[in-house]
Amino acid sequence: MQPDDIVRKEVFSARHHFHPGRVVNICFITVLIFSTLLTWREAVVLEDAYAATQHTHLENVVNSLDRQLQFSVEKLLFFRNGMQDALETPLASTVLRDTVSRISDLRGKTFWDLTFDARRTLTLYGVSDAFVAQTNSLVRDDDRLEREMSAAFEMGYLLRINAPAAHARRVVYVSRAGFYVSTEPHEGERDITSRYYHLVTSPWFTRQSERDNRARSVRWFTHAVLSDFQREQIVTVSVPVDYQHYWYGVLAIDFTLQGIKDLLQEAVDGNGEGEFQLYDNAFNLLATSESVSGKSNRFDARERAQIAGAMEKDTEGELRLGSRYVNWQHLNHFDGVLLRIHTFREGAHGDFGSITIALTLLWLLFTGMLVVSWFVIRRMVSNMYRLQHSLQWQAWHDPLTRINNRGALFERAKALAKRCEQQQQPYSVMQLDLDHFKNINDRYGHQAGDKVLTHAARLITSTIREADVAGRVGGEEFCVVLPGAGPEEAMQIAERIRARINDREMLVKKSQTVRISVSIGVSSALECDNYDFEQLQSMADARLYQAKQRGRNQVVGQDEK
Ligand code: GH3
Ligand code: MG
Ligand code: MG
Repeated sequence: MQPDDIVRKEVFSARHHFHPGRVVNICFITVLIFSTLLTWREAVVLEDAYAATQHTHLENVVNSLDRQLQFSVEKLLFFRNGMQDALETPLASTVLRDTVSRISDLRGKTFWDLTFDARRTLTLYGVSDAFVAQTNSLVRDDDRLEREMSAAFEMGYLLRINAPAAHARRVVYVSRAGFYVSTEPHEGERDITSRYYHLVTSPWFTRQSERDNRARSVRWFTHAVLSDFQREQIVTVSVPVDYQHYWYGVLAIDFTLQGIKDLLQEAVDGNGEGEFQLYDNAFNLLATSESVSGKSNRFDARERAQIAGAMEKDTEGELRLGSRYVNWQHLNHFDGVLLRIHTFREGAHGDFGSITIALTLLWLLFTGMLVVSWFVIRRMVSNMYRLQHSLQWQAWHDPLTRINNRGALFERAKALAKRCEQQQQPYSVMQLDLDHFKNINDRYGHQAGDKVLTHAARLITSTIREADVAGRVGGEEFCVVLPGAGPEEAMQIAERIRARINDREMLVKKSQTVRISVSIGVSSALECDNYDFEQLQSMADARLYQAKQRGRNQVVGQDEK
């Protein structure tokens, strides 16, 4: 190990435990992690609040829509009760009985209509016995027919005065005994048969059989009808009418998709941005709150499957599809689900959007400032650290020869002397002085002298052992401390140094060489049992003087007798 390294290692031994740059890094990374965690936590809270608000928006619309649809369902149940009451206790009116009894003349006709009192109730439209007989699900029971017809007239009164629920197209009672009552005005007699046929083959009628609807409950259906030569989607809510365990017919309210859309629009009114979409139980889109259909949100097959899968698990929930936030809730009084779609763009314009943007910008600003200040402080710290290093090195070294200066050598030498004394080890000191150095300066100049000094120092440090310490103690004077070396070994090392220095000529200037020599005085602690460095050094110095006296270029290790 070079003496430089020994000193540096001792002086800067703290370096490995405490590196200011590393501490600065840890501090900044900690602040960055905490600020990011904090921002992230804020974002999570914000997201929860956003989800809650979206849920409230949806819930408001669901409740409002549910109320409207509940109104229709309740009306349907009210009509059913009216019909069942009338079946139980028919109106004891001879006029009504006379009107109903006319059926015996009409039932053979392909189609017929029967009016009791056009101002009070609705007209019954019917088909022939033959039609009923040839259709499977229809039964014209003679015992029940007249009772059912008079009940239908009575219920017709209820239908007439209770206008169909808002946005409903019509209310209709379809009997299995080959007649129907409808609030929809009739265009002509000709289509009675086809109309009746259409009604009794509609899913909302056929699926109300005792087998298909054991609970005899209200059901919703979406189906297509042909009106004005166009297929039109109709949403029908229907309920079977039974009395004394006999299925008489079906009561139904029809809504056009426009009617459903109007209902939805009314429910949505003032309930925030976003699009609301109403789907039936088969996930068919019935209505959307978006007024321009082209702008409406559509889902591809994969997204539909994703939504349908999520909906199967829960009656309400939410999920994110790309830049769209979708939440849904099933309706209580409708067999379907309401979906709310909130796009990222809409979200960005809302309160949560601006808070999120502000939060992100704040985090970016903070992080940016943190990174900039980290760079600045890192640079400052490393500059200071380098400066401190360089100052410390200068304090301990001779700038010309780059070996220990006088102060450093004395410190190291005293410490080594103490250790050797404690461990009872030999300890020697060598004092060196270049011969006729002044002449080199005078002859070749100061720069050449410096070159010789550097060269000599390099030869000294490369000749001594690893544990030895060399230093420049004067102009052209050097001192070497040899821990663990006795007088003989010290003499050998000194001789080696002397020989190497005098070994060959060195180039001091262009094509000018010089052979230098050194005189060395050696002293050892074992000779006088004294480990005092300064005394050993002056002893070596006296022997160096003797070497000069004796003609230079030699080593003296003993006092003259
Ligand atoms: P002697 O053999 O008796 O030691 O002769 P000397 O010429 O070496 O002795 P002296 O002590 O008279 O000369 C030392 C010279 O070293 C004097 C000074 O000019 C020169 N000197 C001291 N420090 C430096 C230095 O850093 N660089 C150079 N070039 N010369 C230096
Ligand atoms: Mg000298
Ligand atoms: Mg000299």
